[in-house]
Amino acid sequence: MFDLVGSGVDLSDEAALVTGITELERAKSRAAALQARLTAQLATVRHDAEAAAGLPAARRGRGLAAEVALARYDSPHSGNRHLGFAQALINEMPHTLAALESGALSEWRATLLVRESACLDVADRRALDAEMCADVAGLAGRGNKRIAAEAKAIAYRLDPHAVVDRAVRAEKDRRVSIRPAPDNMVYLSALLPMVKGVSVYAALRREADSCGDGRSRGQVMADTLIERITGRPAEVPEPIAVSLVLSDDTLTGGTGPALIPGVGPVPATIARGLITNAVTDPASRATLRNLYARPGSGALVAMQSRSRLFPKALAMLIGFRDQQCRTPYCDAEIRHTDHIRPAADDGPTSYPNGDGLCEACNYNKQAPRWRVRVTTTGTGRHTTVTTTPTGHSYLSTAPPILPGSPPDGPMEAALRNLLRKPAAA
Ligand SMILES: [Zn+2]
Repeated sequence: MFDLVGSGVDLSDEAALVTGITELERAKSRAAALQARLTAQLATVRHDAEAAAGLPAARRGRGLAAEVALARYDSPHSGNRHLGFAQALINEMPHTLAALESGALSEWRATLLVRESACLDVADRRALDAEMCADVAGLAGRGNKRIAAEAKAIAYRLDPHAVVDRAVRAEKDRRVSIRPAPDNMVYLSALLPMVKGVSVYAALRREADSCGDGRSRGQVMADTLIERITGRPAEVPEPIAVSLVLSDDTLTGGTGPALIPGVGPVPATIARGLITNAVTDPASRATLRNLYARPGSGALVAMQSRSRLFPKALAMLIGFRDQQCRTPYCDAEIRHTDHIRPAADDGPTSYPNGDGLCEACNYNKQAPRWRVRVTTTGTGRHTTVTTTPTGHSYLSTAPPILPGSPPDGPMEAALRNLLRKPAAA
């Protein structure tokens, strides 16, 4: 633990405390610069070793960004950014690197400069690097927005075509995502080309402008969004399947929360309301039966298939258990149910040998010298250990099935309870 008394800072002197805070901020920037140097060096060493081993150029460096991510306790997506950042700074942006090293730039502001110059060729990128950071005095007092805006303006002056081309290419990144919000709400976000995004927003506003039924502007816009996308009035319950995990106590009137995998905990009363709607829907009942009705022992844990593909019910069960991609720090939505020991190596298609992964992590796992195996931690929860090519190991333990349930609570029991009492709702 950091020894506050032994730190040399006069703990009763406010000015000294503020100075200490600033010095530590500079130390973080210096550490970020050193981390970037080590990252770029790792990429060089790996690249050379793979080239020497005769690996084709297109396959070199596979999985490296994910290794950087694990080493930094960060998501694989951020790992790509960290690796690109390090290589850009070390190979093409010496002044930005120096500014980071001196503490004149934070890691995030240096990342903004790398991002805004990414569309330029090396010569232009070096010119931007020098113009922004050769004189670090000019960086003082500039916030994130100003740094990014100035870099963008310089990039546009140096090569307008590259900036426009990038804007066109960015359209391919359009997407919709969802994440939990407080108070039983969610944020539904869309990343859209600017004109299309503005026109969606304008259409919602128009609806709000012409509506005078006492709802607020925001409420009308949100309700209109729901109605236009689902094709149903906002107040009518949705017929689509929403997976819900809860204990028998919650189902029969208890107050413990239920869980919507991938979204988060839901209050008991709302969960029971969802079930009341669902049991009137034949398709939902069929899904419940598929999950739980099993001839023979009925032990879900042993559920296994002869197929090399995970049957839908088994994949669902693994999805309930894992909730999100099982790679540490990833948090992405599960897209694949993956054999932990590959089917090609006689890995069974079973509950213990399956885990839920996002697309990128499933791909990374297949990189040379990556190993994943099931292990035990004594918590009773499904645990895997991933070993990367450098021999570093990372544990991934499935989350507790219900919020607030004991960490060693067997999730299978909670799922079986749901099976036993569907008629009680
Ligand atoms: Zn993932």
